[in-house]
Amino acid sequence: MTEEDIEATRAEAKAYAKEKGYVLNVDEKQLSAVLRGLARNKERLGAAYCPCRLRSGDPEKDRIIVCPCLYHEQEIEEQGSCHCRLFFKKKAE
Ligand code: SF4
Repeated sequence: MTEEDIEATRAEAKAYAKEKGYVLNVDEKQLSAVLRGLARNKERLGAAYCPCRLRSGDPEKDRIIVCPCLYHEQEIEEQGSCHCRLFFKKKAE
């Protein structure tokens, strides 16, 4: 996995956040750890599985935890961020 892979993952997350009205974690250390985990899973497992969730090992079942996972919208709505603290709700202006 190269720095370019991580930056590509960052760009994808940024574009998705923009589209959905979310923001990325402003803590760069936490953010880059998640981006690194996503890029690593993509490289090793062929899909950007959530680095903060357990995979079952069955690709069909695990589709729901490919980022952005099935749970993130509800988590962001209820807790202000997704489980991995990648995406955050935008603060009201
Ligand atoms: S919890 Fe966040 S980082 Fe993990 S898959 Fe869901 S949206 Fe992506």
